[in-house]
Amino acid sequence: MSEAARPVPFQQFVLKVHSRCNLACTYCYVYEGPDQSWRERPVRVAGATMRRTAERIAAHVATHGLRSIRVDLHGGEPLLAGPAPLIAYTQTVRDALPPHSSVAISVQTNGTLLTADILKQLSAAGIVIGLSLDGGSARLNRRRVDHAGRSSWPSVRRAAALLADAPASYGGILCTIDVDTDPGEIYRSLVALGPPSLDFLLPYGNWSEPPPGIGPFAEPACRAARPAPYGRWLAHVFDLWWDAPPSRPPVQVRLFGEIVALLLGAASRSETVGLSPLAVVVIDTDGSLQRLDSLKTAYAGAPDLGMDVFRHDFEDALHHPHTVAAQMRGLPTLCESCRHCPVVGVCGGGRYTDRYVHGSGFDHPSVYCADLEYLIRHISGRLEQTVRSTPVGAALTPGEPPARNGSRRADK
Ligand code: SF4
Repeated sequence: MSEAARPVPFQQFVLKVHSRCNLACTYCYVYEGPDQSWRERPVRVAGATMRRTAERIAAHVATHGLRSIRVDLHGGEPLLAGPAPLIAYTQTVRDALPPHSSVAISVQTNGTLLTADILKQLSAAGIVIGLSLDGGSARLNRRRVDHAGRSSWPSVRRAAALLADAPASYGGILCTIDVDTDPGEIYRSLVALGPPSLDFLLPYGNWSEPPPGIGPFAEPACRAARPAPYGRWLAHVFDLWWDAPPSRPPVQVRLFGEIVALLLGAASRSETVGLSPLAVVVIDTDGSLQRLDSLKTAYAGAPDLGMDVFRHDFEDALHHPHTVAAQMRGLPTLCESCRHCPVVGVCGGGRYTDRYVHGSGFDHPSVYCADLEYLIRHISGRLEQTVRSTPVGAALTPGEPPARNGSRRADK
């Protein structure tokens, strides 16, 4: 088997704890997209599924001699289950793992149900909490409403304040970009909430169902053929981040840190950019094994591997043709446009999900092609400027230190 085709062991396990959500965000791809499989899943994960999943993870870790893995507790809204199942799942996985391995556990929540007591319990269990929100005000979160159309902001603001006082348990904020907003206002309002890191998520979409603000497209278009609203939005935020006064170290912004690291020759760790393989598997509340959740934006059943933890181990999932294809390891596996693109070493063709075209699959550039190229060239230019004007030995970037090798993690 060639290096490009050999699958990389899973190192990120997304465990679904609860399949429903108490919010009805207007852009949610899970409940509003073509894949409605959530309707058939158990609402909560059962104890037997937790135990079998933990055994499968432990076997995979032992087989591949993995020293560390990530476990992300997800939903729907995972806190709808209360803290007890999250802590139980965490403990079951930890108890099953071989002694040489470690696990970093996080939960991604909309924040509406987080209380001081729940935060205390999750912190004591070593679970890091990531918050999903769109900005630091009610107006900026107008798309994040409950099923009656009420704003989620008052309760999320309380959650953000609790987390700001618990930095050891605060994973950061995940913000889905609304390209019609002012990037400076979004960035400043999020920084004011005191997170250690920010992730800016491009809304999921594809060439057939384009994200807001771009398209429609008759066919996958050349990156030079259209404006790049998301690239410009992110470039604006990058400048604010990059130019922040050194006396007040800026918050980490994962996408920017990744691009800077890639430009400096490191390997990627994010799903959005780079050529490293994506080593993630999702385990739903019924124990079914799936590839990326975001594939639900492509077509009904797109994430399904047709496997579950009761009948299959992770080796089966790893060698499934869909997993091998989705890992898209290296240049030879990309479409022709990407293979000949001058920024492919940093872009890597973008997220697998965003390459989809109805009828012809994923062998295309990202629907964010123009945006990614714009952002990469912008960051490259700023980095070059900074390198030229920085004395030898001084720090170059507020981003994370570059990774030297490894695999990518899913961005949500
Ligand atoms: S590598 Fe990225 S920027 Fe280049 S053609 Fe592919 S998607 Fe577009």
